[in-house]
Amino acid sequence: MEKIWLERYPKGVPENIDPNHYSSLVEIFERSVGKYSDQPAFINMGATLTYRGLEEKSRAFAAYLQQELKLKKGDRVAIMMPNLLQYPIALFGILRAGLVVVNVNPLYTPRELQHQLTDSGAKAIIIVSNFAHTLEKVVKDTPVQHVILTKLGDQLAPAKRTLVNFVVQYVKKMVPKYDLPDAISMRRALSKGRHQTYVKPELNHDDLAFLQYTGGTTGVAKGAMLSHGNMVGNLEQVAAMVGPVIDRGKELIVTALPLYHIFALTANCLTFLKYGCANLLITNPRDIPAFAKELSKYPFTALTGVNTLFNALLNNEDFQKLDFSNLKLSLGGGAAVQRSVAERWYEQTGVVLLEGYGLTECCPLVTVAPMNLEAYNGSIGLPAPSTQMKLVDDDGNEVGMGEAGELLVKGPQVMVGYWGREEATAEILTDGWLKTGDVAKVDEQGFFYIVDRKKDMILVSGFNVFPNEIEDVIALHPSVVESAAIGVPSEVSGEAVKVFVVRQNDSLSEAELIQHCRKQLTAYKVPRIIEFREELPKSNVGKILRRELREEELKNS
Ligand code: AMP
Repeated sequence: MEKIWLERYPKGVPENIDPNHYSSLVEIFERSVGKYSDQPAFINMGATLTYRGLEEKSRAFAAYLQQELKLKKGDRVAIMMPNLLQYPIALFGILRAGLVVVNVNPLYTPRELQHQLTDSGAKAIIIVSNFAHTLEKVVKDTPVQHVILTKLGDQLAPAKRTLVNFVVQYVKKMVPKYDLPDAISMRRALSKGRHQTYVKPELNHDDLAFLQYTGGTTGVAKGAMLSHGNMVGNLEQVAAMVGPVIDRGKELIVTALPLYHIFALTANCLTFLKYGCANLLITNPRDIPAFAKELSKYPFTALTGVNTLFNALLNNEDFQKLDFSNLKLSLGGGAAVQRSVAERWYEQTGVVLLEGYGLTECCPLVTVAPMNLEAYNGSIGLPAPSTQMKLVDDDGNEVGMGEAGELLVKGPQVMVGYWGREEATAEILTDGWLKTGDVAKVDEQGFFYIVDRKKDMILVSGFNVFPNEIEDVIALHPSVVESAAIGVPSEVSGEAVKVFVVRQNDSLSEAELIQHCRKQLTAYKVPRIIEFREELPKSNVGKILRRELREEELKNS
């Protein structure tokens, strides 16, 4: 099985990567800075940060963290902001100081924020003022000793900075009142750090780079320990797969997924930085009209996203009018890409939507479609080089070709474990094999297909029903925007399928949609109940949260 898939790779993709090529992420960063100094590294709200600019600012920030805050190698530092130029400055400042990055979702509630800061033992946090009111409520009950504040427009040219910060704070009132008297501004920290000495720490593969929080299997957010070795390994794996189609120093990748999520962090920020390319940072991807307008200004060549984002873009008239002649790479993942969306994407842009699969615990990339794939085939592609995969049944025995089993992964990208949680680590990681909790199949050509999450499976009269399949069928109806299927208790069949649907207009009825499903699905899979909603609950990257719908359903029953 392992050998067949190699024939599918574009020429030049190796079977294995050399994980020792770089000692740390900092080394990759330094090499790029040396090669591409005056090229743009990040663009946001019309302002550009060059590789040289990023080097100087992150060096000053690293010096500030080391000298002024006296942080020591291995200390954890949190970042809580959306995609802004301040993000890469903070990120590389922390890594260059030998510290560990703790990415925090800015939309966290005070309770979630307190958990993450306490669990990680973060000593400092860099936060954008729009979210400072959340921190204010809990900071005293966390180990955080230093708060570094930045305002949304702080890295823009002076006139624009004043305007953006004024509009955000006083006109749009996007900055609720907060009280953090001891906080220092990031601009001040950078100017102090410029005059301080930066001491380059010795970093190697065993040193931690990130505590990347994830819901994991039990619901309590746990910090996946991603070492420099894990991250370098995964970067080399991504580079082996995607690198052959990237023009060094020339690409402009659209980064609409938040950088605090591992998908954009690795696929966009770190990979494209390794190749001297630029990231176009979209701060608020939910504002689709503004997003499309921003895209109209740049000759973007690559774009990553989750299914909901591609879908939202495709439904926008301004997006449809854009010039896609420079676009050559579209990568979808993070959740299942729907065939109808992939096909519409190809029709609209002329570029095949390549699907990848991964999880936080793997930095994240595990598989990706080969770059020479001629048409979307519904698969998550092929294992990345140096990645072993197996599919097992509930007893841990490998299943046969074409049969569904839980996907287990082994490779350099597999995390060290969960921070401070030996038991949870032991549950998921045995002899280097990581249990993904995802059910998958493989075909004769070695393409892998995700069937669904193991725990999202619905059991109808003893038959397994996977929500992805139901949602795929529902997506084929032209009046459907998006949907989520869950199992609800049924006296007749144990569980029955219920689907929450966002429709384009009120004329679509429950009966019509059920009729549509009957034509495509065996009787036991056909939804028993359809509930129309204005919107569906989504995660920070736009994944639809079936879990929340299940919890709601439980409360109401
Ligand atoms: P996270 O750790 O938040 O990135 O979530 C990882 C989970 O997202 C995986 O375990 C899968 O359940 C899901 N996922 C990621 N990529 C895909 C994909 N291409 N198809 C289906 N599910 C995916």
